Amino acid sequence: MSDSNALPPWEDLIAGKGCPFCPPRPDDNEFWLKVASLSAATLYIDRNQAYRGYCLLVFDKRHVTGLEQLDEDEHRALTTDLRRAALAISKAVSPDMMNYASLGNVIPHLHFHLIPRYENDPRWGGPIWTTKLEDMQCVTPEESDLRALAQEIAGNLQE
Ligand SMILES: [Zn+2]
Repeated sequence: MSDSNALPPWEDLIAGKGCPFCPPRPDDNEFWLKVASLSAATLYIDRNQAYRGYCLLVFDKRHVTGLEQLDEDEHRALTTDLRRAALAISKAVSPDMMNYASLGNVIPHLHFHLIPRYENDPRWGGPIWTTKLEDMQCVTPEESDLRALAQEIAGNLQE
């Protein structure tokens, strides 16, 4: 991450000051491309497609750091969004397994990683994360390929 993208101190981030996941967010940046707005969250396709179909679902309503801060209606809406997103991604890329991960150790704003897993993927049998972020495999597809996949997933969401 370059200096211009340096994150605020943790105490600020956790309080939602300078939080890069608080709305409004860009639809398209160096990390993601927007797929669709759902009822409580927005779905983005990650520019790193080492795991084809990898998306992020980011909670939209306000700054919260975890599920325990949602009220029941928000929780229900987010869970519905999560399932819809997973179904749409699965239909597009037919993975062997779907991983759902909500960590927040870098950006403590509630979001889920939806990670399609494949029997031949580089971390099959374990979580995708390695100890050092810089050791993570990065595969950046052609822009046209990424946009086509985002459109396919968005189309599947309408069904
Ligand atoms: Zn936030």
